[in-house]
Amino acid sequence: MGKTAVFVGNSGVGKSSLTNKLLKTKVMEEGDLSKIERGKQTTRHTELLKISDNTYIADSPGFSSFELGEIDDIASLFVEFNEYIGECKYRDCRHIKEDDCAIKKALAEGKISKSRYDNFCLLANKQ
Ligand SMILES: [Zn+2]
Repeated sequence: MGKTAVFVGNSGVGKSSLTNKLLKTKVMEEGDLSKIERGKQTTRHTELLKISDNTYIADSPGFSSFELGEIDDIASLFVEFNEYIGECKYRDCRHIKEDDCAIKKALAEGKISKSRYDNFCLLANKQ
């Protein structure tokens, strides 16, 4: 509590549904994908939802509606990567194919979850 969390992801993955579950009330109309026309999505703007004092959830638009290129360093979005990033051999390490990458090392040692790393690769490859 006392935090602000942001859900980010492709439209249709269920961010609004997840938010609704967390809030235990239906605050947003959940999108019915079968009814959504091509290119449309239910979350068109970022909403800040108060769950308790000083605790908010921001529901953001999906990646399809804003440019991933606006994010300089996708790895910085993965907070658990931060403590390893400085140990990468190359300053411009993309943490994907490089040797001596501290992120890949942490992954191999089980310090970073495979699913999180896989998501990172997915996002990084979209740039
Ligand atoms: Zn790296």
